[in-house]
Amino acid sequence: MHWLFGDQLGPHFLTPGNDGPGHNTPLLMIESRSVFRRRRFHRAKAHLVLSAMRHRAAELGDRVTYVRADTYRDGLDRAARGGGDGDGDGDGVSVHHPTSHAALRLVRALPQVTVGPARGFLVPIADFAAWADGHGGKRLRQEDFYHWVRREHDLLMEGGRPAAGRWNLDHDNREPPPRDTTSLQIGRPYRPREDDIDAEVRHDLDRWERDGDVSFVGRDGPRLFPATRAEARRALRRFVEQRLATFGPYEDAMLADDPVMSHSLLSSSLNLGLLDPAECVEQAEQAWREGRAPLNSVEGFVRQIAGWREYVWQLYWHFGEDYRNSNALDHTAPLPGWWSELDADAVRANCLRTVLAQVRDTGWTHHIPRLMILGSHALQRGWNPAAVTDWFHRCFVDGYDWVMLPNVVGMSQYADGGRMTTKPYTSGGAYVNRMSDLCGPCVYRPGDRTGEHACPYTAGYWAFLDRHRERLAGNHRVARPVRQLDRLTGLAEVREQEHARGDTPP
Ligand code: FAD
Repeated sequence: MHWLFGDQLGPHFLTPGNDGPGHNTPLLMIESRSVFRRRRFHRAKAHLVLSAMRHRAAELGDRVTYVRADTYRDGLDRAARGGGDGDGDGDGVSVHHPTSHAALRLVRALPQVTVGPARGFLVPIADFAAWADGHGGKRLRQEDFYHWVRREHDLLMEGGRPAAGRWNLDHDNREPPPRDTTSLQIGRPYRPREDDIDAEVRHDLDRWERDGDVSFVGRDGPRLFPATRAEARRALRRFVEQRLATFGPYEDAMLADDPVMSHSLLSSSLNLGLLDPAECVEQAEQAWREGRAPLNSVEGFVRQIAGWREYVWQLYWHFGEDYRNSNALDHTAPLPGWWSELDADAVRANCLRTVLAQVRDTGWTHHIPRLMILGSHALQRGWNPAAVTDWFHRCFVDGYDWVMLPNVVGMSQYADGGRMTTKPYTSGGAYVNRMSDLCGPCVYRPGDRTGEHACPYTAGYWAFLDRHRERLAGNHRVARPVRQLDRLTGLAEVREQEHARGDTPP
């Protein structure tokens, strides 16, 4: 039997060997209830994952044994009773390299399970290890890695050189949002239609909750993300046709009434294995070659997938299991209840209220709200990075262990002390004001750091730098604002005010 995990749902996970035929190998899928009991997931995420697994099982028909079990081991045991010795050790089962340390440990501990190569990424793990070794212990830079992937995969290359002679077109991107509109007006993104399988999933989740077996955060609502490969391909096509052209310039901008802007909404499909990254970047490149999208947008999108997504996946394995316990800034505060419950209505700061409501209602926001609104607030408040990581993992439809650890522990919370990024990603309200329309209607003023209208991000930023000034003074990317602390009027008041704020909603 060939075992498919719930994030291995596309055709590229079907062949058990390297590229053997495997067309008739019987398949096994295990729906483990304990996964949902262990963590309080967003309801929309639980729905999406179960819906995608059950849709896949329905497509595969008789070829798949679909087991609903308490744990993976129970599931294997039950499946084995149909053929093996029934001891749950996975007799004669093959599986592709799973996506978490825990799942890899599990499959490796089963004596009869053969673990095949990872699928769903452009770069094999061993190739990355060799590339990293070639750096002789020097810092691994995402930019260098990205150039290497572009060359190796011949992405946006012309005669051995990057298209238009530039690797990076960020200079043409990262614009603030247009000031005269509340939306980019580029047509609505693809949204799927629910079917009987979704109705069954919704019914099961209601029952589990009623029985007190599991509980969820977030609101239930129509499923917003693809659960089948056909839906995911439609979403990709729609993105390339309608949104890719404007992806670059507004990549970092935020509009309250247009949370998606030009983003692709493809992360959950990629992470469920419904789409392969190669087809995403190839379709984007083709759009550029045919003159349907400009290079800055296409390069920006290719960088996200062939650069960032691949890099994050590789760092997860490269940094190892202990990385999750990193806490270089010694942040120990627990998450407050309003945050854990996604209680957006308790928050007055317009940016955080808007973004937290997006998470509550959809389980998704784009990368800047994640980094510069949610993550930045958690960092400024000194919340425990492991708790913040767990929160992101549970509350986002595209959250998985491999993608959470580098993005949250490293990029967002700087808990690894700079192994992944060269500086902590946090800012005052001025950045939010420049890159969004969220500050206009806010009760707080981005320019105020003390007093009744003090922006929690502006005050939080200075308080954060102040708390960590010793460590950060030596970091050339933030040394300047750290030096400014000595000349900052009202610093003592900022300290007092932020201390008094505690963990109340801003
Ligand atoms: P687009 O903006 O359209 O980007 C295209 C694709 O690039 C995405 O679909 C995604 O597959 C890939 N990508 C871009 N950046 C990253 C990245 N840093 N890591 C991995 N993939 C990337 N991404 C997840 O897939 N799952 C997560 O749980 C997740 N958590 C995040 C938490 C934090 C604090 C931060 C800062 C980023 C996180 N990201 C995560 C990365 C990124 O925010 C999302 O991939 C993206 O917002 C998803 O929306 P999209 O598909 O419209 O992306």
